[in-house]
Amino acid sequence: MIVGSGTGEGNILTTTYDKIFNWARRSAIWPMQFGLACCAIEMMAVLDPRHDMSRFGAEVFRATPRQSDLMIVAGTVTEKMAPIVRRLWDQMPEPKWAIAMGACATCGGPYRTYAVTQGVDRVIPVDVYVPGCPPRPEALLWGLLHLQRKIDRMTVAKPKSVAAEARR
Ligand code: SF4
Repeated sequence: MIVGSGTGEGNILTTTYDKIFNWARRSAIWPMQFGLACCAIEMMAVLDPRHDMSRFGAEVFRATPRQSDLMIVAGTVTEKMAPIVRRLWDQMPEPKWAIAMGACATCGGPYRTYAVTQGVDRVIPVDVYVPGCPPRPEALLWGLLHLQRKIDRMTVAKPKSVAAEARR
C-alpha cells in the first residue's frame, strides 16, 4: 500500500516481509550450470535471443552449486550419477528449488532399466515437473513461471523444508 502526502514528497510504502523477500527471490533466480543428457540442449536454448530467459531474471547460470538456488535436472539420471546429483544439491544454500525437466528426470523416461533412476525425486525434492521428451524451451519457461508463483506463496516465518513438511 502507498500512502502519499499529495505533494509527491515523503511517500510511504507499506508491505510485508514475505512480499519483499518473495519478490527478491523470484526475480533473481540463479540456476546451476548443469546438464545430464539431451534435455540439456533445450535448457541451453532458453538463453538464446528467441526465448531469452533473462526476461524473468533467471539467466545467471552459475558454475558452482554454492552460488546457485535452482537445480534444473535436464536429462537422464543414472544410478551412478544420482549420488553426485544429491551431493551438488546438498552444497546449494537454502532456500533452493529444483525443476525436473523432461520425462527422464521425472520418471526415468524411455529407460525402464536398473541402471536409470526412475525419477530424480527419489534423490532430491522436486518443486516443478516439466513434461516432454524433450520439452521445448517454452516448456521450461512455463516451469520457471510456475516456480515463481510457488515462491510467491512462501513465508519467511518458516524455512522451505518446514513449510513443505507442513503441507503434507
Ligand atoms: S526426456 Fe527425452 S530428450 Fe530428455 S534426456 Fe530423456 S530421452 Fe533425452
